[in-house]
Amino acid sequence: MEQRFEGENNLMDNNLRLGIMGGTFDPIHIGHLVTAEEAKYQFSLDKILFVPSAHPPHKREDAYSLATDRCNMIELSIEGNPNFSVSRIEMEREGPSYTIETLREIHRMYGKDTELFFITGADAILEIMTWKNPTELFSESRFIAATRPGYSLTKLEAALPKFNSKGRLAMNFVHMMEIPALAISSTQIRARVREGKPFRYLVIDAVWRYIREKGLYLEEG
Ligand code: NAP
Repeated sequence: MEQRFEGENNLMDNNLRLGIMGGTFDPIHIGHLVTAEEAKYQFSLDKILFVPSAHPPHKREDAYSLATDRCNMIELSIEGNPNFSVSRIEMEREGPSYTIETLREIHRMYGKDTELFFITGADAILEIMTWKNPTELFSESRFIAATRPGYSLTKLEAALPKFNSKGRLAMNFVHMMEIPALAISSTQIRARVREGKPFRYLVIDAVWRYIREKGLYLEEG
């Protein structure tokens, strides 16, 4: 099973604190990697699973690259880090990549005692109430909203429900994390490639080569 971490024989590992990096990763860049490493440190996570969205529910099908290319670039980026792994569960599932279904599936695989921390951009978390089964999300996982420095917490508080279906205070399940390296964005990288501007060092070297060899992002998506 490709989600296994090096040296891990028993997926039902009680008390595992598992970070799930959710995103489109089109392409994965240094900001994402710094975010994952910082979340692991700040929240004492054991492992980080990168879960690329196969069909992001809020995006047009032609607005993002092939899931295989996005996944390959993640694999190249995390190579050699035994605490990082990539999961294709959203690629193997038909239909839109709803986060609630992913979290339930990961809980089934790793066991109910595994604590999940879903890590993604704060702008995505702002929209969480429009996701599928929004209040149930907080029963499955905590959420780490990664922001550039200076992001207003008030905006996020206003976007969240006060309580979830189990009467838990939603804000207790969402944590903010400032990441200066998030000044880099995938949108900016795609634009730089299209405009023939340098983008080396914004991504891991192997990803820089992959994008050029495959001719990705040359046309507007
Ligand atoms: P997005 O709108 O493409 O991204 C919003 C912002 O967050 C962008 O600035 C993006 O920067 C940043 N970002 C995205 N993932 C990040 C990560 N892991 N770490 C740090 N910053 C990140 O969001 P998206 O990628 O489509 O969706 C984010 C996650 O939410 C995905 O897992 C998606 O499946 C989930 N989602 C679920 C539902 C649902 O269940 N109905 C609906 C929407 C989203 P970059 O462009 O540089 O990454």
